[in-house]
Amino acid sequence: MDSMNTPEEMEVAIRERIQDEEMKIENVRPNANDTQAATIITTETAAQKLLEHTIKVGMVNCTLERRIDMERCYKCWAVGHTSKKCTGPDRSKMCQKCGEEGHKAKECRNAEKCPACKEEGHRAYSGRCRMFKRELQKARKKKKKRIQTKTEEKNRRETTWKAVI
Ligand SMILES: [Zn+2]
Ligand SMILES: [Zn+2]
Ligand SMILES: [Zn+2]
Repeated sequence: MDSMNTPEEMEVAIRERIQDEEMKIENVRPNANDTQAATIITTETAAQKLLEHTIKVGMVNCTLERRIDMERCYKCWAVGHTSKKCTGPDRSKMCQKCGEEGHKAKECRNAEKCPACKEEGHRAYSGRCRMFKRELQKARKKKKKRIQTKTEEKNRRETTWKAVI
């Protein structure tokens, strides 16, 4: 979604595609490259219609993708599992932002250094983290399979907006 677009314009565009299906636009937020992202909560039928192809909001084409909720581990700072199932090292005392011990991310003034992958320039759970990306890909594959086999029909699904200019 372009920064010029309003949630109202988006709603009109979505309505056109899904007609009377129940839906709610939530959490409109800034995204990369001066665009905006939003979460759409809607029925499975509507979500599938929306995901068929891009949608035009105002003058811009928007892409939609299913939102994938990642499990987060508060012990080793990795994603894809929870601390209960964690087999990784205990990094719970480390700062989520810089990886050092003795303070919390909220009060951290250091440069970002991911405690999970040890790379500089991002914090734990960041979309830039290669560990995060790897887990996300795994989660996507799993989800695809589930949709194909149609073993589970959830009534409400979340769809995330991502804009293409
Ligand atoms: Zn863990
Ligand atoms: Zn820190
Ligand atoms: Zn990382």
